[in-house]
Amino acid sequence: VTFAELGLPEPLLRALTAAGIDKPFPIQSATLPDALAGRDVLGRAQTGSGKTLAFGLALLARLNGGQARSLRPRALILVPTRELALQVSDALTPLARSLGLWCRTAVGGMSFPRQAEALKRGVDLLIATPGRLSDHVRQGTCVLHDVQFSAIDEADQMADMGFLPQVREILDLTDPDGQVLLFSATLDGDVDQLVRRYLTNPVTHSV
Ligand code: AMP
Repeated sequence: VTFAELGLPEPLLRALTAAGIDKPFPIQSATLPDALAGRDVLGRAQTGSGKTLAFGLALLARLNGGQARSLRPRALILVPTRELALQVSDALTPLARSLGLWCRTAVGGMSFPRQAEALKRGVDLLIATPGRLSDHVRQGTCVLHDVQFSAIDEADQMADMGFLPQVREILDLTDPDGQVLLFSATLDGDVDQLVRRYLTNPVTHSV
C-alpha cells in the first residue's frame, strides 16, 4: 500500500516525498484507514515504529480545509515530555505547512508569553505537554472547546509520570463527540481506564 492509496491529500503526499518518506510503515498502513474514516484508534506501538506519522498524518488530513483560529486549536497532540513534543513538531510542521495549517507548541521550560502570542496569531494543531497546556487553559491563552481531533502519545509514560489527572482534565474540555487516537507501548490498568473513558468503540492495532 502507498500513502496515495491511503487517501492522503495531494499536497501532503508531495511534502512526504520532499521529506524522503516514500512508503508507509506497518503502524501507518494499519491505523490510517480507520483514523481517516473517523474511527477512534488504539495503537500499540513502540518508539521507532513510525507512530508519530500514524497519528500526525491522520490529524492533518482530518484538519485539511479548515481555517486557523486564534487561541482555539481544532486538533491536539498530547505527549509526556518537551523533547518528544519538539520532535513531533519538527516532523509535522513542514507537513502542516503543505496544507496551509498552523502547528504550534505548548511545552514547559520555554517562554509562556511567546507561546501565548503564537496561539493568538492562529493555530490549527497544538502539540503540548499536559502541565503547560493546563497553564494556558487557566490563563485563557488557549481554549480547547473546538478540539475535534486528539492524539495521546506514549499514554503509558504519561501514566508513569503521574499526568493522567491532567490529561483527563484536558480531554474533558475538548469536543465530547471528537475523535481520539491513543498510542501506548503497553496497556496497563491506568491506560485502559483512559481508553474506556475517552475512546468510543475503538479499533485496536498492534505492531
Ligand atoms: P517514530 O516512531 O514516529 O518516532 O518514527 C521513527 C523514525 O522513523 C523517524 O525518524 C521518522 O522520521 C521515521 N519514519 C516514520 N515513518 C516513516 C516512513 N513511512 N518512511 C520512512 N521513515 C519513516
